[in-house]
Amino acid sequence: LLQVRGLRKAFDGHEVLRGIDADAEAGTVTVLIGPSGSGKTTVLRSLNVLEVPDAGSIRIGDVGLDFAPGHRVGKRAAARLRAQSGMVFQNHNLFPHLTVLGNVMEGPVVVQRRPREEARADALALLERVGLSDKAEQFPFQLSGGQQQRVGIARALAIRPELMLFDEPTSALDPELVGEVLAVMRDLATEGWTMVVVTHEMRFARQVADQVLFLDGGVIVERGAPSAVLEQPRQERTRRFLRLLG
Ligand code: ATP
Repeated sequence: LLQVRGLRKAFDGHEVLRGIDADAEAGTVTVLIGPSGSGKTTVLRSLNVLEVPDAGSIRIGDVGLDFAPGHRVGKRAAARLRAQSGMVFQNHNLFPHLTVLGNVMEGPVVVQRRPREEARADALALLERVGLSDKAEQFPFQLSGGQQQRVGIARALAIRPELMLFDEPTSALDPELVGEVLAVMRDLATEGWTMVVVTHEMRFARQVADQVLFLDGGVIVERGAPSAVLEQPRQERTRRFLRLLG
């Protein structure tokens, strides 16, 4: 379902991604790990076309895009690829002036121009799925961090993407709120969602991931099943990183 080839990206002459190749089958969970600054967030933002890579290609489902130096990516082509994935951010990025329900309906109504009533029914069903039916009319500031993050997940699901992207969804949360967010993510994996997750939650990676990619210095240094990469890493750099995590 996901195919990434030769992805490169530099910021101010500093190469952050130096040729990323990755694949993910439909219905699988890919966990991306690596030290701070290794380029994990840039990979995810590229998949969602929040960053435009300098070179390489991305295909999600039946939508593909090629990148090359000096080649401008059209707005329409970017929007088409962006619509293939739903992104959950570290800091939820909810609209503070909209209710929970309004936040979840925003993408379908404003971007996809779906009928309001249909979007509303969908949004209510999604809120039920993340355990927040009773919060629909509240505003984000009235919710706990874990609840806000679950709204973020419902909002990303609402556009009916092919692929769900999670950028350290639990790292800004108080420890006691991490579990409820991971539980929703586990459910989504069980339901067969295709997911790419940047996280430092190694237990989640061990239990839920189909493949783990270890990124360091803008390249994927090691990849494979969690039992291989996390339990018997072959590369010294992977071993060092895992030791530091404890
Ligand atoms: P972390 O775990 O700390 O979030 P990461 O692996 O997700 O790190 P990225 O956020 O992808 O790493 O950043 C990789 C490098 O690119 C960093 O050195 C960062 O400072 C730089 N970088 C990222 N986005 C930009 C930007 N918009 N402009 C300039 N530099 C950027």
